[in-house]
Amino acid sequence: EVEQSVDPPVLSHGGHKAASIKVLDQPLPNGTSTWTPSSWTSKPIKQDVVYEDSSAVQKSLAKLERLPPLVTPMEIIKLRKCLREVALGKSFLLQGGDCAELFDYCEENAIESKIKLMLQMSLVLIYGANKPVVRIARMAGQYAKPRSSPMEAHNGGQIHSFRGDILNGYAVDERKPDPARLVSAYFHSAATLNFIRGSISSGIADLHSPLDWELGHVKDEKIKAQYERIVNSISESLRFMRTVGADSAASGLETVDLFTSHEALLLEYEQSLTRLMQHPPLRPKLSPPSSPSSAPDQFINGGTHVNGANETFSKGWYNTSAHFLWIGDRTRQLTGAHIEYIRGIENPIGIKVGPTLAAAELVDLLNAVNPAKEIGKVTLITRYGAKRIDELLPSHIRAVRESGHTVVWQCDPMHGNTSSTPTGVKTRHFSSILGEVSSALRIHREEGGFLGGVHLELTGEAVTECVGGSEGLTEEDLDINYTTYCDPRLNEKQALELAFLVAGHYRD
Ligand code: PEP
Ligand code: MN
Repeated sequence: EVEQSVDPPVLSHGGHKAASIKVLDQPLPNGTSTWTPSSWTSKPIKQDVVYEDSSAVQKSLAKLERLPPLVTPMEIIKLRKCLREVALGKSFLLQGGDCAELFDYCEENAIESKIKLMLQMSLVLIYGANKPVVRIARMAGQYAKPRSSPMEAHNGGQIHSFRGDILNGYAVDERKPDPARLVSAYFHSAATLNFIRGSISSGIADLHSPLDWELGHVKDEKIKAQYERIVNSISESLRFMRTVGADSAASGLETVDLFTSHEALLLEYEQSLTRLMQHPPLRPKLSPPSSPSSAPDQFINGGTHVNGANETFSKGWYNTSAHFLWIGDRTRQLTGAHIEYIRGIENPIGIKVGPTLAAAELVDLLNAVNPAKEIGKVTLITRYGAKRIDELLPSHIRAVRESGHTVVWQCDPMHGNTSSTPTGVKTRHFSSILGEVSSALRIHREEGGFLGGVHLELTGEAVTECVGGSEGLTEEDLDINYTTYCDPRLNEKQALELAFLVAGHYRD
């Protein structure tokens, strides 16, 4: 049945927030602008949500405002420091997870297999790039999805498109945006994060326990030998460290950092978890060396003005729903609501950079979200497609360099390489994914820089959503285990293989 009734009061984005979030509505002390956690509500917005029941929305947001932070300023600043190292070429960034995380993925096996996969991939990348790897999961909050259309055809009528579990359900009878899901998203994030934290502190990343490098699926003997060489090198290094005692508790081999991230799409939710908080005591000074004369102790964009003497007393706006937030390719308009929101938070942030973004606008965006030009505050997540990266990336690199910004350049080889099979199944070819990463590595080098990291859609499960890779998955294999609710993900073997190939690129 076609809904979209017009009787109930329709609420658009400006309506409920101003009233519901009053405590947070203080202008920033740095006086640069009038950013507040809700200042985005006065800007034009894409992908807006229209809820029918405004009092239910108010209730959910009020609840979220009371709930404790999911992540802390200390952790957020730690990641910001790590990403500075990535921007300077001293570390590599691995970010990955589902396209659309479902509430149902908040379950032991799904979480554990994803953590293990990310850890194993990072080990391969450490070996390859010969650098520490910063790991960020698209997890514990990746619940909101932008869609090309808010409605879709169903049984001759129209229903709401599925826009992620934070908003509506996939089942046809759950498609109406449901404000109760805002609170449910918080609790699913919290449970996921709790299990991630518990697993890591209980030794899931302990390199003393043997890793499963099963390579039986790799049919090509030459490729298999190449992967085995990498596995042997890694195993030997670990053995050596054990022998010389370099794996003692103090070496940190038992534990790792795993940060969380999601797309900052549903701004009502993000605003509710944005808190004015004390900066951590060991907050680094990250002023850009390129402009040493301009207030050497000044630290940030968007947050509270900071100078050495008052540092301990100063506060800033932290998005406490995840360590890292990014703005999608559909919502990155310079004067739009999403860029307005993201420019004010202390967290390190990402911006998706697709084929339609002009170089000049990219620089305008950087100036808007990071006027202090802090190194590594912004990650540019490029996603042009394997066929177009050569035409588009070089001019973006040059424009950013000339602007004086030092960013993390991250390649998302997924979103520019989505295609449909003749029967209409959304897929991605492993060869295109690898092709875009290889091109990114080469182009950054040719331009005198380096690729900072990769951004992948992956799962620890044996899904059949992307074709190709060493298992030789074909389009005919796709329906064996096609379970994504949004974009096709690399399965465990394909993801690990991509890590092997990137590592090989550095070593060969
Ligand atoms: C995504 O990362 O799932 C996504 C929607 O990407 P983009 O904004 O680059 O299209
Ligand atoms: Mn996606």
